[in-house]
Amino acid sequence: MLSTRPSVALLGATGSIGTQTLDVLRRELDSFDLVAIAGGQRLAQLAAIAKEFDVSNIGVVSNDDRVSLQAMVGPSVNIVVGAEGLTELSMCADVVVNAVVGFAGLPVTLSALQAGKRLALANKESLIAAAPLVAKVRTTGGAEILPIDSEHCAIHQCLAGSPDEPGHPDVRRLLLTASGGPFRGWTKHQLSSVAKSDALKHPTWSMGPKITIDSSTLMNKGLEVLEASALFGIEVDRVDVVVHPQSIVHSMVEYVDGSVLAQLSEPDMRLPIAYCLGSPVRFNHGWGRLDFSQALHLTFEAPDREAFPALDLAYAAARRGGAAAAWLSAANEIAVDAFLNDQISWSRIVPLVADVMDGFDDEPLTSLEELFENDATARRIAHGMVIGQ
Ligand code: NDP
Ligand code: MG
Repeated sequence: MLSTRPSVALLGATGSIGTQTLDVLRRELDSFDLVAIAGGQRLAQLAAIAKEFDVSNIGVVSNDDRVSLQAMVGPSVNIVVGAEGLTELSMCADVVVNAVVGFAGLPVTLSALQAGKRLALANKESLIAAAPLVAKVRTTGGAEILPIDSEHCAIHQCLAGSPDEPGHPDVRRLLLTASGGPFRGWTKHQLSSVAKSDALKHPTWSMGPKITIDSSTLMNKGLEVLEASALFGIEVDRVDVVVHPQSIVHSMVEYVDGSVLAQLSEPDMRLPIAYCLGSPVRFNHGWGRLDFSQALHLTFEAPDREAFPALDLAYAAARRGGAAAAWLSAANEIAVDAFLNDQISWSRIVPLVADVMDGFDDEPLTSLEELFENDATARRIAHGMVIGQ
């Protein structure tokens, strides 16, 4: 019998978003057919997922990994390698979940859209770095982006009644909420001696290491401003950030008549993931359901832009346009990696990105070649700063 269930490719299956997506799929076995997965280092976990979901296509990073994994899963499973492999897997399913971390997720975003698929997008870095290129391939018939990032998923839902006109003229502004991270309220002096273990402790969400560090510097929110602008076609000067430490209001849309629409739930990424897989169908799981019989305290405050300059760096990159956002994201990846490897201190992460941006000379971004060149240049400069400390 032929299956009529939409097929799913889950790329970045072994990480935080990947694992939570598997949780959703486990509860919706009759609704979806997982046909492809990909990951990086965790080969045994990939093998276990393939066995549990009977997956016949797997993407790995290197040929050595392919040989090791083939021994674990047997000869009947098709194993593909590297960026080419990710490209192939991104075209083989109806719904493609991009849960890879960093610029490595670029082939997934571009190929899924080029092939006219639904892209359930967690990997913000690819959209931010390649925004003008993504805008082009997004017009392919059948292609659509459903944002998994909780703030953008909230905005997607709050825009449901807004006419699909370029720039959303009925919207005054998007209000992205931010938990404020583990160092909310800290002074510049306190921030000068942050321990790695503290930076890796997010107050409301449990996530992979890169985004957890980005949340501690507020670079994650800066990247999300760029992400919102690219996703919804709204210029960054109409995207504001509001600190909301409880992480219950996931974001808001203010319309020109003064109405503000918000989406609320307890923090649980399975809710936006399920929304992106099923939309317009809503599954009956109730992940993140709020208990209104208990007192609910929701507070909102302005971000401290002086203590957390990453936010303004992101706005500045957006205003410069061209390859500026690609530089910002690439430099940030190198800086965060260096911090996680004990090469630089936490307080050096954002200044290092700012120093890299000082060398940016309004490079345009019209082709994939230009994107790769700019990404490589920003990484080389950032890396030079790390080892030249
Ligand atoms: P994790 O670090 O937990 O997971 C990253 C995934 O990417 C892992 O499966 C990893 O494999 C895989 N991976 C890394 N490099 C490659 C590569 N070259 N090829 C294929 N797979 C690769 O990150 P998160 O799940 O936290 O984040 C994923 C993305 O989602 C990020 O862009 C993040 O910003 C975004 N996001 C995450 C949220 C969250 O709650 N976690 C919320 C909103 C957005 P392996 O582990 O096997 O090495
Ligand atoms: Mg987010």
